[in-house]
Amino acid sequence: MSDWPAALTALSLAEARDGLARREFSARELTENYIAVVEVVRPLNAFITETPDQALAMAKAADERLARAEGRPLDGIPIAVKDLFCTKGVLTTAGSHILDGFHPPYESTVTEKLWQAGAVMLGKANLDEFAMGSSSTTSYYGPVENPWRRRPNGRAGDNRPVVAGGSSGGSAAAVAAHAAMAATGTDTGGSIRQPASFCGIVGLKPTYGRCSRWGVVAYASSLDHPGPMTRTVRDAAIMLRAMAGHDLKDSTSAPLPVPDYEAGLTGEIRGMRIGVPREYRVEQMPGEIEALWQQGVDWLREAGADPVEISLPHTKYALPAYYIIAPAEASSNLARYDGVRFGLRVGAASLDEMYELTRAAGFGAEVRRRVLIGTFVLSAGYYDAYYLKAQRVRALVARDFAKAFEEVDAILVPTAPSAAFAIGDNTDDSIAMYLNDVFTVPANLAGLPAISVPAGLSADGLPLGLQIIGRAFDEEGILRVAQVLESAAEFRHLPAFIAGKT
Ligand code: GLN
Repeated sequence: MSDWPAALTALSLAEARDGLARREFSARELTENYIAVVEVVRPLNAFITETPDQALAMAKAADERLARAEGRPLDGIPIAVKDLFCTKGVLTTAGSHILDGFHPPYESTVTEKLWQAGAVMLGKANLDEFAMGSSSTTSYYGPVENPWRRRPNGRAGDNRPVVAGGSSGGSAAAVAAHAAMAATGTDTGGSIRQPASFCGIVGLKPTYGRCSRWGVVAYASSLDHPGPMTRTVRDAAIMLRAMAGHDLKDSTSAPLPVPDYEAGLTGEIRGMRIGVPREYRVEQMPGEIEALWQQGVDWLREAGADPVEISLPHTKYALPAYYIIAPAEASSNLARYDGVRFGLRVGAASLDEMYELTRAAGFGAEVRRRVLIGTFVLSAGYYDAYYLKAQRVRALVARDFAKAFEEVDAILVPTAPSAAFAIGDNTDDSIAMYLNDVFTVPANLAGLPAISVPAGLSADGLPLGLQIIGRAFDEEGILRVAQVLESAAEFRHLPAFIAGKT
């Protein structure tokens, strides 16, 4: 590693935790290494706000605890926080102009738990505006660039920068570029798993209710799931344990104990039944995704699992139902940004005009599109035809999964129908962009846990992920299967951004 500024950032979270406990290096050294990398990766635009002073202060406190042998589970671990989580006194933007200057007076439950566990905050990660998108290009703060590039000899020599996926693209890019050891993300329709797949990292969307939504800027409340993004499955298990748990401040949070997910990583999946749903073989699926999926089935069979073909008959209705329900909830959630209580205000002669001018100036095109769709499908006369119908479809999708899980223990599918696309592609075509979520959205509608693991490279040299979906609250099960896939895939490639610097 010649001009790479840091040696310690190559460690996984588990390795760093163990090294810190053995006092092989200090939390300060580790944090300084990460701060140096955060500076080097600025061209990727992965962070909206960097918080190096806060990071060093948190590292100091962690070092003091470690010296007294009072270490906590994440003491001294530097992480990035998706800028959708409210952080007390630290600018929180949701990637939107409308939250200009918003410094929350409170901390989200998930980030509070992470700080209580000893984690160190490097900064707030860039995202699609209000988490609406699949490319992290709709942020008011500019697009995120993926640290990966196509091979120079790939598709007609097209070496344009590619998207990091979305909406948690800044989190994914930061973790992939070794500018954070782990990150928080949120997943409403795929926003943890799809960027994880595009950036070659692990992304876990837990069961709805497992991680509190309190203090997370709401997109679509019945679909929003906070979760971890990491470089390894073990790291995801460690992060999830710290982030999860019942929270009285979120009425949909589950009053269940949080298992030791790391201890559940036994590598043993013999006899597990793995469902392979035939409806996910969608038209126009690239051959390389289909082949990787088959490879995943073979890997699990070799590890002693029992793959079985299953049917999830309502799969094809999931995406259209999602793109009604999510905008409907978003239009209601976003009504609070009126220029009175938060952020931006555009002055005007009357109150109504102030609302209009503020919202017109504060929201980007995609957010405005969602608000329009949402208010339309909720309006009198259309409510039954669209919103109610979509809710019925949602129940059918959930029932498909419930039936499947009478037969199987987990389900294996691809994470996304493609590798990362070039920045600028798909942006004028909303439908093409929405189609990217075809494999991730069903698990959100059903609230089920799902994880994406890097499993291979596309012909162009970009990462591709495989996804495991599990029974409600069986994060342990999907983590175990994911780790078996991870070892079989031996995904050790580094993104061009790092490889070029080493
Ligand atoms: N791409 C999907 C959307 O735009 C999902 C986003 C998300 O999961 N936050 O709604």
